[in-house]
Amino acid sequence: YGITAIVGRPNVGKSTVFNRIIGERKSIVEDTPGVTRDRIYGKAEWLTKEFRVIDTGGIQIENQPFKEEIEMQVEIAIEEADSIVFVVNGRDGLTKDDEYIAKMLRKSQKPVILVVNKIDDLQFMDAIYEFYALGLGDPIALSGTHGIGIGDMLDKIVESFPKNIRNEYEGMTRFCLIGRPNVGKSSLVNAILNQDRVIVSNVEGTTRDAIDTPFKREGKEYVVVDTAGIRKRGKVYENVEKYSVMRAMSAIERCDVVLVVIDGESGIRDQDKHVAGYAHEAGKGVILIYNKWDTVDKDENSTVSIEKKLRNEFVYLSYAPILFVSALTKQRIHQILPLIDMVHDYSLLRIQTNVLNEVILDAQLMTPPPTHNGKRLRIYYCSQVAVAPPTFVLFVNDPELLHFSYKRFLENKLREAFDFTGTTLRIIAREKT
Ligand code: GDP
Repeated sequence: YGITAIVGRPNVGKSTVFNRIIGERKSIVEDTPGVTRDRIYGKAEWLTKEFRVIDTGGIQIENQPFKEEIEMQVEIAIEEADSIVFVVNGRDGLTKDDEYIAKMLRKSQKPVILVVNKIDDLQFMDAIYEFYALGLGDPIALSGTHGIGIGDMLDKIVESFPKNIRNEYEGMTRFCLIGRPNVGKSSLVNAILNQDRVIVSNVEGTTRDAIDTPFKREGKEYVVVDTAGIRKRGKVYENVEKYSVMRAMSAIERCDVVLVVIDGESGIRDQDKHVAGYAHEAGKGVILIYNKWDTVDKDENSTVSIEKKLRNEFVYLSYAPILFVSALTKQRIHQILPLIDMVHDYSLLRIQTNVLNEVILDAQLMTPPPTHNGKRLRIYYCSQVAVAPPTFVLFVNDPELLHFSYKRFLENKLREAFDFTGTTLRIIAREKT
């Protein structure tokens, strides 16, 4: 899929446009500059084409002068995206800052979709003409708040992506490493790749291939997604947390299995939990890698007590296997790829309907569903509707009656029967008609 990035000076309505593109109108958007927003990376779909959007306005360095701020945004957009949505404000007219941004964008050679926002009424339509002067083609009149022009903009976005975006990594296991700076991600990648001879195949295609590292091991093909993001050093914004979060989300989207790397030397931090949360929400396979094991003072209880701590801190990742490794001494590095294979296989596991229904029936016989307002949940049958993550639909008398605790009970029964290590399970109740 393609990636587009939104740029523009402050207060032109970038996050309104972002929300329009991802189709979520509920997010809080305030008409004040510098409002902090958490959503900076989103999934979108238009005319059955899926793509991703980055709101670079959400990646801010505190107290930066405008010029540095905007340069960072544009640089990120150019690096991370296939096309750029440049938002200007039709009510303010063309400003010097717009011209400055346009100049950088023209140099980048990336397709630019010029959007004149805040054209809330046809009578303001004339305001778009002066923006031709930016030399970025036809401006699109838009009202982010009233929803005018959204379709035209989405058409242009979908057209802007290179034609050859396809899945070059078909049949390969894609994994990524996420975690705070200095937890050892790049050391781990090197340790994994250097285990024995690495055959790096040359996959030609999109511009983003350069950041992924394909390799073969024992006849199997893998791709480390976003190796560039792991290795790159020195840019100012590399240390901006929101930038790494955006980068991590982008990597997570593109892979099958996520290695959440934790620094065993400094322990678990809040930021570790944030990134791990994204992996969980995206429904990817997840493995917790506890790195720098060589620095940990060990007694016979250390794995047990650290594992307990990890389980407490990452409650929602109870299904994720934990591996204690050292990129430095290479301890247990050879177990990483087999574990990735296993987790990937479980995320793709399909259970036969009759076997599945036996397990669900047994579970109900053992612990009958609870009653609510005198009504008992009845499960008629169950069907697996998707993999990655495995998704099960329960056909029931009343979906409201499937409470969280019973859902968790059923999930545990499914795990007892089929394991599903490393993958989240989705269980959905639907009314039987
Ligand atoms: P990244 O920012 O997550 O990619 O982290 P790096 O791979 O650059 O590692 C950060 C620092 O931790 C470097 O100084 C590494 O040498 C060190 N490091 C990485 N893995 C280990 C390990 O297993 N044990 C020890 N003792 N140090 C490590």
